[in-house]
Amino acid sequence: MRTLPRADVVVVGGGWSGLLMAKELGARTGLSVVVLERGQPRKTSDYFEGMDELDYAIRLRMMQDASKETVTFRHTSKDRALPIRQFANFLPGTGVGGAGEHWNGITPRFLPDCFELRTRTVERYGAEKLPAGHSIQDWGVTYAELEPFYTRAEWLLGISGKTGSDPFEGPHSAEYPTPPQKTPYFPSLFRDAARSMGYHPFPAPSANLSQAYRNPDGIVRPACQYCGFCERYGCMVGAKAQPTNTLLPVIARQKSVSVRTGANVRRVLHKDGKAAGVSYVDASGEEIVQPADLVLLASWTLNNTRLLMLSKIGEAYDAARGTGQLGRNLTHQAVSRGVALFFDRPLNRFMGSGACGIVIRDLDGDNFDHGPLDFLRGAYIAAFSRGNPPIGVFGTVPPSVKATWGSAWKKAAIDAFDSTASFGISGEHLAYRTNYMDLDPTYRDSNGDPLLRMTMDWNDNERNLIGYMTARMAQLGRAMGAREVVAPPLPRRYDVNTYRSTHLQGGTIMGTSPANSVVNTWLQHWQMSNLFVLGASTFPQNPSGNPTLTILAQTLRTADAIIDRYLKLPGVLA
Ligand SMILES: Cc1cc2nc3c(=O)[nH]c(=O)nc-3n(C[C@H](O)[C@H](O)[C@H](O)COP(=O)(O)OP(=O)(O)OC[C@H]3O[C@@H](n4cnc5c(N)ncnc54)[C@H](O)[C@@H]3O)c2cc1C
Ligand code: SF4
Repeated sequence: MRTLPRADVVVVGGGWSGLLMAKELGARTGLSVVVLERGQPRKTSDYFEGMDELDYAIRLRMMQDASKETVTFRHTSKDRALPIRQFANFLPGTGVGGAGEHWNGITPRFLPDCFELRTRTVERYGAEKLPAGHSIQDWGVTYAELEPFYTRAEWLLGISGKTGSDPFEGPHSAEYPTPPQKTPYFPSLFRDAARSMGYHPFPAPSANLSQAYRNPDGIVRPACQYCGFCERYGCMVGAKAQPTNTLLPVIARQKSVSVRTGANVRRVLHKDGKAAGVSYVDASGEEIVQPADLVLLASWTLNNTRLLMLSKIGEAYDAARGTGQLGRNLTHQAVSRGVALFFDRPLNRFMGSGACGIVIRDLDGDNFDHGPLDFLRGAYIAAFSRGNPPIGVFGTVPPSVKATWGSAWKKAAIDAFDSTASFGISGEHLAYRTNYMDLDPTYRDSNGDPLLRMTMDWNDNERNLIGYMTARMAQLGRAMGAREVVAPPLPRRYDVNTYRSTHLQGGTIMGTSPANSVVNTWLQHWQMSNLFVLGASTFPQNPSGNPTLTILAQTLRTADAIIDRYLKLPGVLA
């Protein structure tokens, strides 16, 4: 084992949260910062070679290799967990930029009451309305406290949107920096139908630029070409905000910050109640120690949790006894398989971008009365035009077509290709005592370390929520003029085989006391003041919206706390 010279700061993970923290520290302190990223280096020009759906979207070129490291999964504590051999329902990123390279760029703020979920729910409905077995809690930070950081994150990325177009949004201290993206034909049908039904449609906030934009760091990006290759690809023109085009060019100018790739961190080292650095395996297999005064974990939900467990920092959650904090409150957005709509006319869905579409939040959060309903919270409903990929989309035929193969089926599939669409929900997932992560007692990764084990299932609240939203989506589909509307079967069990979203939360949740959380509201570890944890692993439960804008806002808030207060007086941040 080789020990390197001490760095002031080590950041584990080179995705949105890790690189943003490194950029802030590099710009505003003279500290030496080392970012350790397990995957490969990346830059925008890597994407110039063109987009190959089979390579990128089907064979998952940019994602974590499940043959080297995966997770095991089971529905309940009584089941035996088995390894996920191919990622499907979520797609962990790897390589510089992380999943932020191949994301869609949908960037809503969370609804204000999400941050005070327990308090607001009990105030309105009484504690008896909380579902059995829940472990819902307030975040310890409010929307108002986070608001200035939301604005900074939006200006960093150049978010295209229109404030005030969503009547349910929280206050914004500034207009979005760029106007909304264009509304393609299919979302425009949704907008008109939603309006006719009394809902309040608005353009989705998008990190895919509607026009050329220069951000406060001086980074200039061009307008989106609506080529339809956002999700699972890097944007070849750089219109989509990606860590490699938004953060890396700034970091490249900072002499005190370095990004080291092929560095797979295995442990956070610690001594006498303080983090002392990390140990990692480099690309050649050599074990290396990187000592540091300050350690920041930014390795996404699963590995933030796993690294703390492997490093024996904090008490692991024990579901049977209800003790310990590390690993609890695992959540994953309640997303339904889309309602399929078959039209009589072309929808031009070959073009679009990952986030150009129309959204309604009338049925989100607590924007409607849950008194008579058998579930809490809700979902946003959205129609996007993302560019239909031929392999991923071809083959859906309306139920009125009886042929299942041969030339009749082929003709029907070709006819249906551009006249078929689906839209879906992004729903809230509450936290439960039975959904958590721990270390698997059986299975190990290629380094011999135990895999993370996920124990997770839907509860009645999510089943009922998805059922309610699916019925509303079918109504909307009919109002859009679809000839046939097909609602998917309602999910009974959490399913790891169908893509849902890569929005997993929890495991190292934030809160107001070590008795209810792993990190404090500044994302500082309760037991180790020189250890911080960034990203959605700190969310106590899953609000409906896509998480990245909130991850960035939280990272900026923590960066300010470290730079303005911690570095001046190291210790516990009040
Ligand atoms: C297909 C897809 C579409 C998405 N669309 C959206 C969207 O529209 N809107 C939205 O808000 N979110 C979206 N997301 C989610 C979004 O990408 C994530 O929320 C975001 O990237 C999280 O940033 P992060 O820095 O926390 O983690 P990541 O981006 O996952 O980065 C973590 C990094 O840590 C590295 N790492 C992990 N373990 C180690 C280790 N042991 N040692 C060293 N490095 C390590 C990883 O390789 C990775 O590069 C999408 C995700 C996917 C996959
Ligand atoms: S649709 Fe726009 S943002 Fe997405 S990859 Fe194409 S040009 Fe880039």
